[in-house]
Amino acid sequence: MEAIRSAGNSRRAGVQPLKTPCYNPTAMTPSPRLLLTIDYESWFAISRRFDSLPTEKRFALDESYAWNAIDPILDRLKDAKTSFYLVGELVEWYPDLPQKIFDAGHEVGFHCQVHRPLNSVGEIEKDLKASTAWRKKFNVRGFRAPMINTVEGVYPLLEQNGFTYSSSLYAPTGTILRKGNIWELPVSTYPLFGKPVTFRAPRRMDLPLIIGGEFPYGSSLMSGLLPKIVFKLIEKEFKKGLSPVIFLHPYEIVSPSNWPARFSQDLQSNPILYPFTLNKSSFLNDLLRSFPISTVEAFVREAAQ
Ligand SMILES: [Zn+2]
Repeated sequence: MEAIRSAGNSRRAGVQPLKTPCYNPTAMTPSPRLLLTIDYESWFAISRRFDSLPTEKRFALDESYAWNAIDPILDRLKDAKTSFYLVGELVEWYPDLPQKIFDAGHEVGFHCQVHRPLNSVGEIEKDLKASTAWRKKFNVRGFRAPMINTVEGVYPLLEQNGFTYSSSLYAPTGTILRKGNIWELPVSTYPLFGKPVTFRAPRRMDLPLIIGGEFPYGSSLMSGLLPKIVFKLIEKEFKKGLSPVIFLHPYEIVSPSNWPARFSQDLQSNPILYPFTLNKSSFLNDLLRSFPISTVEAFVREAAQ
């Protein structure tokens, strides 16, 4: 039902509804599950200090963290099929990284070639061009914008570049949008004062979203601050037949060495980043024990049938 309601809202917002017309919600709503996603990026990606450095400098800063973290993360996930949105320059640094994820049965998605705010069509176009070869090789279909912050103009570009879906907005769980030929499956929020009526990008974690009464529990910022409440919300949504979309980062599962001391300068200048440095592996274990999990790509494929 949620998908229908959201589709109705999206119609008012000027984007295409899920299917036209939607007479039977159960026929198109896949079984509820947790859509666990990992934005796979280096330990410094949430800082903006290193965005404009040459890639070799970021590679040196990474100190093999992104490569060393992948096996312990895959071991922890076992058979829980997860969507990994990979920062493309990590594939340049560690060419076997996507194959490892793929061989373990998970989805290889895209989190931009270089992790930084991408707010213009021209910049996104350039970034997509830089990643064409490896995306093709791994048949990448899913897109997650850095900082869950994008623009409406991204959707035609995603279509031109072979994507089928994006997960680059925040919106209430159960919202499934069609943006041209691209599905948009937003990161979950819990609306406290009724459903929003527009779903245009950007819908990011900012003051208007919070003032509008949406609790963005799908963000790892929230599972860092309030893990028990986030777990309860996931449980509640799941019981309603919904499929929450949440994300974690590798550095929240496998702590880098000297952590978070090596990030102290950033934490001092931007204390809001602190919850991203907390280790969430026991929260992840609770999720893995409690919910069926699938990739977003599998969910979208089922929804599209
Ligand atoms: Zn990111």
